[in-house]
Amino acid sequence: MTDTASAAGPIPSATGSCLCGAVRFTATEIDPHMHVCHCGMCRRHAGGPTMSVSVGGVTFQGAENILRYQSSDYAERGTCRKCGGHLFYRLTGPDHYIMSTGPFDDQSQFVMGGEIYIDNKPGSYAFAGDHTRETEAEFLKRIGVL
Ligand SMILES: [Zn+2]
Ligand SMILES: [Zn+2]
Repeated sequence: MTDTASAAGPIPSATGSCLCGAVRFTATEIDPHMHVCHCGMCRRHAGGPTMSVSVGGVTFQGAENILRYQSSDYAERGTCRKCGGHLFYRLTGPDHYIMSTGPFDDQSQFVMGGEIYIDNKPGSYAFAGDHTRETEAEFLKRIGVL
């Protein structure tokens, strides 16, 4: 048995918001396969592992309330200036948004897609289920960085 629904197609559109509602968004062409990242940057920024989905595009209401923090040469992370709620990770070169799943109004369509940076994960927690668990090196090799 696997909890990875690999046949699930893209979600055409879905809405979400930060905790205080100052930032609302509509994301489109959402890959329903949620990825969990255990890297040290995600854990320090989000307070724990991040859960996110890749989207084809996103439009924001209250965009002036988004704090964009450039966390590396190629990516930034977005939070709400008012409540600190985590919204996204964005690859700046291709302008590709990877939205945090927590802010979505309806998360029932998301399925576990796998875990990355599993070798960075502290021993104090673990996600159950039969899905892919890639090390930092395995992940970077797959996306063509190594
Ligand atoms: Zn907010
Ligand atoms: Zn990460």
